[in-house]
Amino acid sequence: MKFNTKTIHGGQENTDPAYGSVMPPIYQTSTYSQSTPGGHKGFEYSRSANPTRSALEKSLASLENGNFGLAFGSGLAAIDAVLKLFKPGDEIISTNDLYGGTYRLFTKIFEGLGIKFHFVGMQNADRIEEYINKNTKLIWVETPTNPMMNIIDIEAVSRVAKKHELLLAVDNTFATPYLQQPLELGADIIMHSATKYLGGHSDIVMGGLVVKDKELADKLYFIQNASGAICGPMDSFLVLRGIKTLHLRMQRHCENGEAVAMFLRANPKIDKVYWPGFEDHPNHDIVKKQMSGFGGMISFTTKENTLQSATSIVEKLKVFTLAESLGGVESLAGHPASMTHASIPKDEREKIGVVDSLIRLSVGVEDEEDLIADLKQAIG
Ligand SMILES: *Cc1c(COP(=O)(O)O)cnc(C)c1O
Repeated sequence: MKFNTKTIHGGQENTDPAYGSVMPPIYQTSTYSQSTPGGHKGFEYSRSANPTRSALEKSLASLENGNFGLAFGSGLAAIDAVLKLFKPGDEIISTNDLYGGTYRLFTKIFEGLGIKFHFVGMQNADRIEEYINKNTKLIWVETPTNPMMNIIDIEAVSRVAKKHELLLAVDNTFATPYLQQPLELGADIIMHSATKYLGGHSDIVMGGLVVKDKELADKLYFIQNASGAICGPMDSFLVLRGIKTLHLRMQRHCENGEAVAMFLRANPKIDKVYWPGFEDHPNHDIVKKQMSGFGGMISFTTKENTLQSATSIVEKLKVFTLAESLGGVESLAGHPASMTHASIPKDEREKIGVVDSLIRLSVGVEDEEDLIADLKQAIG
């Protein structure tokens, strides 16, 4: 099955054995009747498994070319489950330019529980080896990175991981499986904030994991059930519904993203524009190798380079909504330094380029002309 067909049918055979409904039913139930103690039809209690969530988990696995999917109450709950594979003394090497909430979870929760993190710029995969020792267990990669749109060569990092027998996890939230398939490039775990492009309509918060290996899946399933950070059946249904148009939305996100990136680059009041589609993007060769398109995420700074200049633009936008999050059908603008990345100390943040004038756009699927006219009036 090819990708576009998978978004609609992947893992969805026989989701309603009772009546044959085309869409998976929303099994809004916590428990399931048993004919005799232990005599059930595969479902006992909805923390352990729920048919609507199972349908979503199969869809996620299919989209990422994995064998097992697991859905959680948020992207961070999914990351939390991955981190619970480890114990005090273990070490993790992570991308240094990271979603703020992931950085907070790593440093404020798991560092306190005895796990040691190294935050490393991974544009050159060879640099990772300096940080590997006998306690190292996992490499955590986010690419494209948020909000600087750096690109990490997943295949090169996976060679390092395999050489040292480390697990490699990739946060595939920004690219989605439509643009990038990390399991095919050697990753062991895919993580998603399904809140973003997979859900696609800014109406749920959810996370997902996909793996190929049965033993790893069993460990993660144990944590999912034992810690209990699952998502409900209604939300599972909404994400399944969102996924059915993932390919259509992503195509338009890419087209509009390109138009907006070109407009910003040509605007005299704009300084830097971060978008992986530019031929002079420092990692453009890797982008072309591992992604099939450039997506709808763009960051930029103003020539004036002040907090005031960024604030003034985001306040004047009308079609773009000033809000956290990304990946929905509607265009959003964010100010990372005061919003998504406020939990990262200012000097840490500025080291990776998150300056006060940086604005991040999630370009939606509206008409391109309206988006550009909106940016034009706001930039002035
Ligand atoms: C939003 C996001 C997360 C966290 O997901 P939640 O669903 O908000 O918990 C993790 N990584 C990336 C890249 C994100 O954009």
